[in-house]
Amino acid sequence: MKHDIFSLKGKVCIVTGGYQGIGEVVASYIADAGADVVILDLADATAVAERIAAEYGVRSKAYICDVTNPDNVQECMDKAAEEMGTLDLLFNNAGICLHKPALECEPKDWLKVVDVNLNGVYYVAQTFGRYLAANHKKGSIVNTASMSATIVNIPQGQASYNASKAAVKHLTKSLAVEWVDKGIRVNSISPGYIRTAITGNSNPEWQKLWIESIPYKRMGTPEELAGAVIYLLSDASTYTSGCDMIIDGCFTVV
Ligand code: NDP
Repeated sequence: MKHDIFSLKGKVCIVTGGYQGIGEVVASYIADAGADVVILDLADATAVAERIAAEYGVRSKAYICDVTNPDNVQECMDKAAEEMGTLDLLFNNAGICLHKPALECEPKDWLKVVDVNLNGVYYVAQTFGRYLAANHKKGSIVNTASMSATIVNIPQGQASYNASKAAVKHLTKSLAVEWVDKGIRVNSISPGYIRTAITGNSNPEWQKLWIESIPYKRMGTPEELAGAVIYLLSDASTYTSGCDMIIDGCFTVV
């Protein structure tokens, strides 16, 4: 390419929830686009970081981090900035889903989902935004929302998840506008059903019903999200902020 606009070479990217699923696969593609990668996850993702470094010839590190704990997030971000030398990009992706009808949800169920999916995304974005602002750096953030921010899934009850993801979508737009003058872009992706532990471990009858309702007649793969994340992180999208990109095999179109 004459204009290497999708390249992430020379950048350092934080990926939350990179131990498995979408985070792990997209982290590999981000490395393939040239970035050094730092994985933050509840689980120890050292083996993932080592594989990425060996496979793509980039630097990669992993830190155990609970995104619901702002002090822990700050500590990991400080360590990452020190060990990697700088931070430029963030794929803010860690999330959980609870399939439980709203009438049966206890306050602790609701709080847990909102804490990881909304508060966690906010703490990580805020800590990263503060780092960029303090160091007079521009940067780009991609949050993982969901098509559940836009539609209501059936037949499973998951109001806490849907509400948390709708909040992520609007948090993305809010931060995008607040941080325009800092040169920090904030966008989100909204995947449809993607085959990972979250969906694969769900009731097989539901999975059948979901697939019948998707115009593509299949779930997506984490690999099919990588291009969108790289686009939004890279200089190919310098005039794009506050955008939510739905990647769902046409689920929300019909
Ligand atoms: P996975 O469960 O496969 O991966 C999520 C990762 O996030 C896990 O490694 C998990 O660690 C980690 N995580 C959970 N809680 C925390 C926490 N408090 N702090 C740090 N890390 C944490 O899920 P997916 O890859 O499928 O999902 C990734 C994102 O994509 C989520 O935000 C999800 O809501 C979203 N999404 C997924 C869709 C799908 O169909 N799969 C569709 C739309 C959106 P551990 O396993 O140790 O808990």
